[in-house]
Amino acid sequence: MPNMSPQKIKMPERAANVRNKDFSEVAVGYTESMAREEAARCLNCKHRPCVGGCPVNVKIPEFIAAIAAGEFENAYRVLRRTNTLPAVCGRVCPQETQCEKHCVRAVKGESVAIGRLERFAADWHMEHAEDAAEPPASNGIKIAVVGSGPAGLTCAGDLAALGYDVTIFEAFHAAGGVLTYGIPQFRLPKEIVRKEIDGLQRLGVTIETNMVIGKIASVDELLTEEGFAAVFIGTGAGLPVFMKIPGENLNGVYASNEFLTRINLMKAYKFPEYATPVKVGKRVAVVGGGNVAMDAARSAKRLGADEVYIIYRRSEAEMPARAEEVHHAREEGVIFKLLTNPTRIIGTDGNVSGIELVQMTLGAPDASGRRRPQPQAGSERILDADTVIIAIGQTPNPLIKSTTPDLDTYAWGGIGADAAGQTSKRGVFAGGDAVTGAATVILAMGAGKSAAAAIHRYVAAR
Ligand SMILES: Cc1cc2nc3c(=O)[nH]c(=O)nc-3n(C[C@H](O)[C@H](O)[C@H](O)COP(=O)(O)OP(=O)(O)OC[C@H]3O[C@@H](n4cnc5c(N)ncnc54)[C@H](O)[C@@H]3O)c2cc1C
Repeated sequence: MPNMSPQKIKMPERAANVRNKDFSEVAVGYTESMAREEAARCLNCKHRPCVGGCPVNVKIPEFIAAIAAGEFENAYRVLRRTNTLPAVCGRVCPQETQCEKHCVRAVKGESVAIGRLERFAADWHMEHAEDAAEPPASNGIKIAVVGSGPAGLTCAGDLAALGYDVTIFEAFHAAGGVLTYGIPQFRLPKEIVRKEIDGLQRLGVTIETNMVIGKIASVDELLTEEGFAAVFIGTGAGLPVFMKIPGENLNGVYASNEFLTRINLMKAYKFPEYATPVKVGKRVAVVGGGNVAMDAARSAKRLGADEVYIIYRRSEAEMPARAEEVHHAREEGVIFKLLTNPTRIIGTDGNVSGIELVQMTLGAPDASGRRRPQPQAGSERILDADTVIIAIGQTPNPLIKSTTPDLDTYAWGGIGADAAGQTSKRGVFAGGDAVTGAATVILAMGAGKSAAAAIHRYVAAR
């Protein structure tokens, strides 16, 4: 009998006033009985609208039916057939705008908690089962993947499963892309990312870290001198965008990327156990309204700031961050200054001492469909602050573009590629944030998957 409750089973979470002082995970995860009860809410509809809402086409009703039947390892195997990183997606995917948006249960209540169930099945597998140790037989064909974020990992995983000899080249000293250097431990524990990557390595994927392609070797050299039959570029969008206002070069101003990389990848939150310092003052202003801004604000709070502000120029309705992240940030004590925009950062002796904000009103919608914010003359106010973190967006790093002749790119820096990932250059494919600009984990994974299929076709047709 289906469970006809209109509400999802609530995700157990640690108390806000406890969790905002450490980096342990906020959401605790369903128990077996909670997962079975929630899985029983799925009606197993014939037309499966949820599957169409998933960029990697996870067989959602099938894996949920397995959970409802108590067959948790089977649920994981169904997930893993199409999703290389289920424990990651179960934690950070915006399900509310993808699979869950299409769930028929959402018509008269809340959708089935697909993401929470995905996380449950993946975590259950990690705790109770072993991955198959045997990599598939090699076909002897070498493929290079540049970048080890979700796009690169997915592309590599799908190609390795087909027998290709895949090498991932990663610029940083650890693999995972934003999953490792950007999204904080309290939302996505790094042990989980590491275990997902270990699974790929067991499939036979080689990962070479500290390898900046464009410096150590070019894309052309990978093809012509290193013997790779094709190259997939999944280099993400790691170049910070600044506001170009006075004061951005003062001490105490961070790009969100630098701030989060220090904390996550370089473990500044474990200082002095790890040697990376990160200066966080008592009053921190974070500029931006996306997931990156929420992560920076919540991290600053955990590092001891008394007051942390989100400065966002539109209203909450336009905020690009997931509603859950905004809710968690508020619960943890982050203060939202909506409809405000910085005009300058103020310094004393070279250090940040405040930020000038102007009040905004919303006018007619702009090209993105969101109402355009307009400053109200004479409404400027100073907010005292000793740290300012800028989280207003990121674009692709120009290194690959500048070192790869014949690779078409857009004026904003993205690499030109079709839906299958084919670029203007023969044998070179691309996907993820490097092509779309800053987007989501699951879209990057979907692009990696499409490119893997296109590379397989390309190699067969050579
Ligand atoms: C702080 C933060 C929080 C986010 N939160 C969410 C969220 O909750 N949910 C969600 O869906 N999305 C979220 N996103 C967005 C999501 O993480 C990205 O869309 C996704 O990671 C893009 O994947 P990718 O593989 O294209 O690139 P990335 O994850 O950026 O990986 C690219 C990799 O390529 C490497 N690289 C770059 N240049 C080179 C080179 N020349 N040679 C070798 N390696 C190179 C980089 O070091 C990096 O490891 C967040 C992003 C950030 C920054």
